[in-house]
Amino acid sequence: MAQLELASLSKTYPGESGGVLAVDDVDLTLEDGEFLVLVGPSGCGKSTTLRMIAGLESVTEGDIRIGGDSVADLEPRERDIAMVFQNYALYPHMTTRENIGFGLKMTTGLDADERNRKVEDVAETMGIEDLLDDHPRELSGGQQQRVALGRAIVRDPEVFLMDEPLSNLDAKLRTQMRTELKALQDDLGVTTVYVTHDQTEAMTMGDRIAILDDGELQQVGTPLECYHRPANRFVAGFIGAPSMNFLDVVVEGELLVHDQFQYRVSAETTEAIGDRPKVSLGVRPEDIRIVDDPAGENVVEASVHLVEPLGDLSHVTLNCGDRQLTATAPSGRTYDRNETVGFTFDEADCHLFDITTGESLKTSDGTVDDETAAVRAR
Ligand code: ADP
Repeated sequence: MAQLELASLSKTYPGESGGVLAVDDVDLTLEDGEFLVLVGPSGCGKSTTLRMIAGLESVTEGDIRIGGDSVADLEPRERDIAMVFQNYALYPHMTTRENIGFGLKMTTGLDADERNRKVEDVAETMGIEDLLDDHPRELSGGQQQRVALGRAIVRDPEVFLMDEPLSNLDAKLRTQMRTELKALQDDLGVTTVYVTHDQTEAMTMGDRIAILDDGELQQVGTPLECYHRPANRFVAGFIGAPSMNFLDVVVEGELLVHDQFQYRVSAETTEAIGDRPKVSLGVRPEDIRIVDDPAGENVVEASVHLVEPLGDLSHVTLNCGDRQLTATAPSGRTYDRNETVGFTFDEADCHLFDITTGESLKTSDGTVDDETAAVRAR
């Protein structure tokens, strides 16, 4: 167990016209025992970052430190790191016992009895003690994933690296393994970097999440900080499902003016906007309230395009001029297609972004105030 530090870490893959800058000057420190989820869309540099930490990819610039010591020039096996892959990477001709014990045999001086004891302990932790003599082909996807995790755990490394380890499982098992894996990491207290493109996994598993786009780190924070106080429009749109709705609006004094509506904001918000003539307004589906009467201040007229019932609630797509917005509504009220409704949202919940840079100008006040956020960040 140890602190893991990425210092001004960059990676350029060689190629035409300067190559591909896959990871761009990333600074990130994981505290001892922390579970950090590295999340972002496909191609944003997650795997490259992970592979550099593992030593499977060279570092172009910057440094990687474990427990304060640079490991950037060490061979993968010298780094005291265990990696879990999406495809499990089990040896097909080996039993569960042999797969879990393989790393121990190669890298430690333990005798066969000691190795067996460790393998059996880990198998028990993972609930696979009855599968020790089975081969991977005899195991389900979930069981194979447990063996792969067991193989990582048995080595008792300083750092775990996990590359989309749950994405080959079906939805139900994935949800179950999410909880299990998080609890296991809590118990073991091993510093972990977990890579995924799935924002739900990031939100539910991470002590903190680090959001990457185009090789650049966009924000690092607790899931709720990133949800309530996104640093920019990219993070705001990436975190939260369904995604935040965005509308470009013209600023006229205390009014945000859109083709279809005007929305009055407070002096505090006007101050945050400064002299920008236009801003991007962001409202999360869960912060939109659909009302029957489309008249009234800060109520916008819209028509119902589509309703997706989910049981406890529904996702309602609304047509508002030439834009579509998604709202989350209690499932008790049903809507007809093309029905005229109104929607509104509280100023406290809305977000504003600079139209050019995407920088956040105002975030929701949510449940995370400055004090709570500061406590969480410690
Ligand atoms: P992610 O894991 O977030 O999907 P990657 O780290 O795999 O992203 O890729 C980041 C960028 O680097 C992408 O533009 C990808 O095309 C490029 N890339 C990844 N691996 C290589 C490679 N071996 N050679 C050249 N370019 C690569």
